[in-house]
Amino acid sequence: MKNTAIKEITAKKIVIVGGVAGGMSAAARARRLSEQSEIIVFERTAHVSYANCGLPYYLGGEIKSQAKLLVATPQDLKDKFNLDIRVKHEVIAINKEAKTVTVRDIAAGRDYQESYDDLILSVGAAALRPDIPGIDGPGRFVLRTIEDVANIENWIEQQKPSTAVIAGGGFIGLEMAEQLTKRGMAVTLVDNKEQVLSPIDIEMAALVHSELKTHGVKLLLGKPIVGFSQPEKYQAQEGSKPKSCWVHAGNEAPVAADLVILGMGVRAETTLAKQAGLTIGERGGIRVDSKLQSSAANIWAVGDAIEVLNPISQNWTLIALGGPANRQGRLVAENILGAKKTYQGTIGTAILRIFDITVATVGLNQNQLINSGRAFEALHLHPTNHASYYPGATRLDIKVLFDPASGQLLGAQIVGQDGVDKRIDVFATAIKAGMTMRDLAELELAYAPPFGSAKDPINLTGMAATNILDGLISQVQWQEIGLLKDIESCIVDVRTDGERERGYIPGSKHIPLQKLRQRYHELPKDRMIITYCQSGQRSYNAARFLQQHGYTVKNLSGGYLTWHAAESLNSEKANNLVQTLPCLSQSDCSAGAKK
Ligand code: FAD
Repeated sequence: MKNTAIKEITAKKIVIVGGVAGGMSAAARARRLSEQSEIIVFERTAHVSYANCGLPYYLGGEIKSQAKLLVATPQDLKDKFNLDIRVKHEVIAINKEAKTVTVRDIAAGRDYQESYDDLILSVGAAALRPDIPGIDGPGRFVLRTIEDVANIENWIEQQKPSTAVIAGGGFIGLEMAEQLTKRGMAVTLVDNKEQVLSPIDIEMAALVHSELKTHGVKLLLGKPIVGFSQPEKYQAQEGSKPKSCWVHAGNEAPVAADLVILGMGVRAETTLAKQAGLTIGERGGIRVDSKLQSSAANIWAVGDAIEVLNPISQNWTLIALGGPANRQGRLVAENILGAKKTYQGTIGTAILRIFDITVATVGLNQNQLINSGRAFEALHLHPTNHASYYPGATRLDIKVLFDPASGQLLGAQIVGQDGVDKRIDVFATAIKAGMTMRDLAELELAYAPPFGSAKDPINLTGMAATNILDGLISQVQWQEIGLLKDIESCIVDVRTDGERERGYIPGSKHIPLQKLRQRYHELPKDRMIITYCQSGQRSYNAARFLQQHGYTVKNLSGGYLTWHAAESLNSEKANNLVQTLPCLSQSDCSAGAKK
């Protein structure tokens, strides 16, 4: 019953509102299935089927021609698919009883009715413009459409901006931070949260912060924008060329910006749906059933405008991504034409390049798991992308979250230079397939030294998690280090002298792994031992050795690399925390605290 194919196709009159990702996918699929159907697409902008995901790269100059963004013109679509594409036509009302829509022909300035058998809403999302004083002034742009791009391009040509503020550290904000930096602008990124990229956890975001700073992007995090003001007010004190505006964030001094990109999030476009009385979910998107039908018969909805069920949490959520929109469009076309296919939900597989690194995520992050009350174990690894002896190996920073009872993979995040994309796709496939960490340990993945390792990072993640599931090792997380009570634990650094010289967790005792067999008796048996190395792998060996000599041991997940990344977020706070670290006041441990 789940994915019943089409048995018999009856031609229909299908009206689609929105002619980009989900809408055009639905239109093309419907035509391939039914030559006899009448298919009309209404799009209120001047363009359909354009690559909105490519817009930042066009603005940055990586995509040279705007024409490249236009995947197909209305004429192409007429010629190829016999689609009736009506651009600059906005659907302003739905009459679900009469099964008609009211359409505004923007160019002609007239309204008319169009009937439908089935109506698909693929109306996308609208960029948020919060009610902040001055947000609508000149030089402040959102980025969603070709028209937005043209406006930003014109501004850049006229104003020749040398400074830019990106308001919001989400995917689009970060892509624009990269692209405007590459165009030579001094970029400041402002976000009211303490981290960029809220789909990933903060210690992973710390790696992104570091990359942004390395490339000159100034970060103002944890600072809500409270206003935009015009230059006159500040020009005297600035005494330099007029700026388009000043951005006021938190209590910080105002930041000059010749150009502002507003990447402050999106909201599902529900104007039409609300007017038609369709059910809107608690997350603010159009509520659909498992076939992607709205609360009204013969009205379907896809893409950024709908709420989707996350199959891991079973919670309704809003996920604005191109892949799901395209697949949903295809599925709805099939269901309209007689299939009974069920949408399997969206797990939020996403990827992003930021200068020299790639960041990717899938599934639930730690905050989402905490909020949904689901038990989880977090595991951090730092393997190389391919065999470390082969030239050019670089580090992958991997975090996975899994169910501590069943081992089911719940989420994964990766930051690295190379090989991030293929690993995140394996994790995404594993989540869709309901695989466990034990399954990941067993995956047979392609290996030759330039591409991977005999134990691929995916296998290593599965193996490390299996050790936890099998009770061979337990972990502490970087957040817990500062909270450990001094009578309870002793932190042991098993790295080399050279690694120790470059930094260590204050209060930790240093016994290199190679010397542990001779020196382990220096460690107190009445306290919990926390082992750490650079990545967590050597300290796992140390932990296993100590356990077998009667110690109670936990291994620091992700080792010094993860701890240090997180610590860099707030070194002042971390310094305070490490003052309370256990070993400082205990002689048998503090003896080794220096080195
Ligand atoms: P859209 O593709 O946004 O299309 C909605 C269309 O409906 C719009 O053209 C709008 O004008 C039209 N419309 C709305 N209301 C009406 C009406 N009443 N009448 C007529 N027309 C109407 N996703 C990724 O997965 N990867 C990426 O790298 C990525 N990069 C992105 C970069 C940018 C700059 C942007 C803006 C988005 C990016 N996305 C990315 C998100 C992705 O583009 C969207 O998730 C996807 O386009 C959503 O498809 P959709 O059909 O729901 O809406």
